[in-house]
Amino acid sequence: MKTAVQVIRTLEEAGYEAYMVGGAVRDFLLGKQPDDWDVATNATPSKVKELFKRTVDTGIQHGTVLVLLDGDGIEVTTYRTDGLYSDKRRPDSVEFVQSLEEDLKRRDFTINAMAMAEDLHIIDPFGGKKDLEKRIIKAVGNPESRFQEDALRMLRAVRFSGQLDFEIDGATLASIRKQSHLIQSIAVERIKSEIDKIFVNNNTARSMEYLIDSGLTAFLPSGDLFHLDWSRYKATGDHLLGWSFMLYFHEKEVEQLRGYKFSNEEKRLMAKSLEAARTDAWDAWTYYAFSTRELDIASCLTQKNIDILLEKKQLPIQSKKELSATGDDLMQWSGEKQGPWLKKWILDMERQIVTGFLQNDKEQIKEWFLHEYHRHA
Ligand code: ATP
Ligand code: MG
Repeated sequence: MKTAVQVIRTLEEAGYEAYMVGGAVRDFLLGKQPDDWDVATNATPSKVKELFKRTVDTGIQHGTVLVLLDGDGIEVTTYRTDGLYSDKRRPDSVEFVQSLEEDLKRRDFTINAMAMAEDLHIIDPFGGKKDLEKRIIKAVGNPESRFQEDALRMLRAVRFSGQLDFEIDGATLASIRKQSHLIQSIAVERIKSEIDKIFVNNNTARSMEYLIDSGLTAFLPSGDLFHLDWSRYKATGDHLLGWSFMLYFHEKEVEQLRGYKFSNEEKRLMAKSLEAARTDAWDAWTYYAFSTRELDIASCLTQKNIDILLEKKQLPIQSKKELSATGDDLMQWSGEKQGPWLKKWILDMERQIVTGFLQNDKEQIKEWFLHEYHRHA
């Protein structure tokens, strides 16, 4: 908060208004330490850039400039209203405005629409503080039109319910139920990013209950897969645990979730985690062949209580690089040229060593290799 206050002081000394806004104010009032502080100001982006030595144009088209100060980054956004959302994805235009209240009015929920001055006094035109106390998520203004402007807000309500362990206000929830189909107009990347956050929530089950109850799942890609008993889900901070949880308990493969445009790395990780989860008895080879992250996910899915790091530490080798004999050695010992045979023998050697049947010692490997090689020749 120190850096945000410094940014506000600099703006005020130059004759502008500036406040801390959004999620950070909400979390601060809840007694949580916010990760990052956002500042709103009536100074234009070009003024902000003039006033600070180091800035980055992170979202200049929406009026946001990242100010770098004391090893910290503060997003400074010019007061604005959002224009029409004709594609329900991004506002067509943003318009800079002079009043803080206009800026707060465009925000999604009352608890996210408060501002805090440098002296910590709260500007709260929509009753956000009261709703924080009541622990409810309530749209700013008319929920129906707010969700028509940007349908992602429906999913954000569901996400915040689990993140904060709050209820969704009755009228707000009713209007999500009524308009859940609008979620289809939202870019899948924005949807996925909210669902990712639900999976690292402190109360994923609550968000999932709302997601299903509101009718939103009917309009999400692979929406059926969300229908599960989430009470046994425990978030770990890895969003892929949630997606893997759906696939594992529905006995489906990663391909089933293609609608969400996962990265290749995410797809690979989920496939490996499922493979590990579907492996009944874990042995040294399992601990060797799967990464810690994959095994963490798999052990959560199967409720295995295992110290994965310890199991990994106890392995004779951690990777191929530690093998005491190389492909060159095998070629020399056999007198054969490179070819597909080599890969198979290296894997065989690796397996023998990892599982403890063979010592990782060059002489012993040679002896084992020559014996086995001639037996198969
Ligand atoms: P978190 O702590 O999870 O990041 P946050 O409240 O900071 O929660 P962000 O997505 O970072 O959420 O957005 C910052 C602020 O911008 C919100 O608090 C809200 O005031 C506003 N906001 C973000 N997305 C929307 C939206 N789709 N519609 C209206 N206001 C929004
Ligand atoms: Mg935020």
